[in-house]
Amino acid sequence: MKRVAVLTSGGDAPGMNAALRAVVRTAIYYGIEVIGVKRGYSGLIKSDFIPLGIGSVADIIHRGGTILRTARCEEFFHREGREKAVRNMVSAGIEGLVAIGGDGTFRGAVELEKLGMPVVGIPGTIDNDIPCTQWTIGFDTAVNTVVDAINKIRDTATSHERVFVIEVMGRKAGFIALAAGLAGGAESIIIPEKPFEVGDVITKIMRGQNRGKLHSIILVAEGVSGALEISKKIHEAAGLDTRVTILGHIQRGGSPTAWDRILASRMGAEAVKQLIQGERKKMIGIKGDAIKSYDIEWALSQTHEINMQDYHLSAILSI
Ligand code: ATP
Repeated sequence: MKRVAVLTSGGDAPGMNAALRAVVRTAIYYGIEVIGVKRGYSGLIKSDFIPLGIGSVADIIHRGGTILRTARCEEFFHREGREKAVRNMVSAGIEGLVAIGGDGTFRGAVELEKLGMPVVGIPGTIDNDIPCTQWTIGFDTAVNTVVDAINKIRDTATSHERVFVIEVMGRKAGFIALAAGLAGGAESIIIPEKPFEVGDVITKIMRGQNRGKLHSIILVAEGVSGALEISKKIHEAAGLDTRVTILGHIQRGGSPTAWDRILASRMGAEAVKQLIQGERKKMIGIKGDAIKSYDIEWALSQTHEINMQDYHLSAILSI
């Protein structure tokens, strides 16, 4: 194998740059040239290619976002778009691709392989909603961002004796809400994986109120929707001053944590090794402390279950 390409696709996540650096440096170490593709799959269709040398990835390990930029590409959903992408790659002498992104990016990778292009996927998304990996690149940084926000909101919630309903990202999954809620000491955590009654949240707040506790942090995953409605119901039932904070895109930014950089470095290096070994359709994951690889199609048919023990633990600790 003489030349591989690398791209970042879907939503950006802190640590994508660290993964890119690992891919480039590992490939060069093994004598392979690397081509960077700008803006995900649309860069493949437009031949938006740049050669990446050792120096091109210097000074990026600590930066959020992705220097390759990222995009969602409608044309890639159609066979003609994907065929054009493969033609462009073949004419540029590209023999394999490392795709860093979420499950959509992995679905695109499967389709590329069907057209003859070997692909290895690296899970890069803050949502952690990818099967066959306990951690995705960017999740740890996003959770730390949310915990930092909870700490700040807690100060004002205590001072004003208010209830804060904080909505966090995570698409249809509650990984960010659960991890940040446990780490941030939230009174209630509302996630899509667990049906909930606003009445139970209110009962808990009232119980606290009776003990003289007048502030509360309620963490709601975006997949549940209705943070405003929950806040309104709490206000009406408990007569408490309630506020809603939707954290939004700050959860996507920032310098990646040490863990995200370590994960990205390990996964980036492994992705290149998989291509060198002749693998054609793999995703990289981590289980315990071990870096693993799985057939992407099979992996996408699996589920990543949320840790319900942590959910119950958070309920016990916030009694
Ligand atoms: P995130 O989890 O952050 O949203 P993602 O990788 O899941 O990241 P998507 O927008 O779902 O983000 O997918 C990225 C791109 O992958 C799409 O814009 C499209 O170009 C391609 N893609 C997704 N699904 C498919 C598919 N079934 N077939 C071909 N290409 C796909």
